[in-house]
Amino acid sequence: MKFPESDIYKLKQLLASRKKIVIVTHRNPDGDALGSSLGFKFFLEKKNQEVDFVSPTAYTQNLSWIQGTKDILVNEGEAGKKLCEAKIKAADIIFCLDFNALSRLENLGEIIKSAPAEKVMIDHHQQPEDFASLVFSNVSYCSTAEMVYDIIADLDEENLVDEKTAECLYVGLATDNGFFQFSNTTANALQVASALVARGARPEYVSEKVNNIFRETRLRFFGYCLHEKLKLVKNGSVAYMMITQAEIKKFYLQGGDSEGLVNYAFKIDGVKVSAYFSEEPDRIKISFRSRGDIDVNTFARTFFEGGGHKNAAGGKSMINLEMTEKKFLEALESLNLKS
Ligand code: 5GP
Ligand code: MN
Repeated sequence: MKFPESDIYKLKQLLASRKKIVIVTHRNPDGDALGSSLGFKFFLEKKNQEVDFVSPTAYTQNLSWIQGTKDILVNEGEAGKKLCEAKIKAADIIFCLDFNALSRLENLGEIIKSAPAEKVMIDHHQQPEDFASLVFSNVSYCSTAEMVYDIIADLDEENLVDEKTAECLYVGLATDNGFFQFSNTTANALQVASALVARGARPEYVSEKVNNIFRETRLRFFGYCLHEKLKLVKNGSVAYMMITQAEIKKFYLQGGDSEGLVNYAFKIDGVKVSAYFSEEPDRIKISFRSRGDIDVNTFARTFFEGGGHKNAAGGKSMINLEMTEKKFLEALESLNLKS
């Protein structure tokens, strides 16, 4: 067993009869948010459960190939919001996947908090908030999808993991560990990946769909950023890029188009921290990445209203780009970049 027996027992009890279930994930759902949620949804449906998957914001076009995305209920627009709220209020169980802070749900946070349903968290981020009655939280997992598989195994129901379930979970697992490159690529992550491939997930297909489906303008945008926008400071140990709304418009960027760009700076020897700032209409959205002991989770929490993992975190800034840059450069003083 990978999880406490008493928690698995509670989950088993919850799922022992047919229930109205809502799965909810974080805003701007990424590969793991969608893959873990859709994989878990398919699994629960095989167990004859009634399941809806609610996303606080729309998923991006580049992930729309994942099986099951067209049935996602998106909490946008009047009708969408009404439907999501009604489903959440009527649910017997709400599974919260790939987030541990209600602030990551937009307005759905309050609705979930006050909903009468039993709440179950399945998540691998640091410092979980206390809003669920049953909590599966473990930061040693590379992805929520990896956790979902181990929970299914603990339930002794791997036989219900069919090809589409396996592939969804594989998408979550592989995208959150950078296709087996990041420090979270553990023996367990590889074992779960192996089990998912044995059950029908297609590694090459997923890799092509995630990595090699750029529109031309997106690749040219990457080239532009690396050529014109990348700045190196702190003796070449910190790299960052700040992208304006005008640039986003000039390259016709769509949601998800900057995914992965923040990692390129690590190709330069000596870079330990990389940051990407994107000027969105209502906020500056920030991605942080680091290597080794440098903790960008704490950095994002302390200075940019965010969080995540030690080596991959996100946050936001509500002041303009120029002031955000100044704040960022000052905040870097808190990091030990020497080690
Ligand atoms: P990304 O840079 O890919 O958007 O996010 C990197 C990691 O940080 C992900 O695990 C994501 O869940 C987390 N993250 C991103 N933005 C936020 C945020 O605003 N708040 C918190 N708590 N975590 C975030
Ligand atoms: Mn994740």
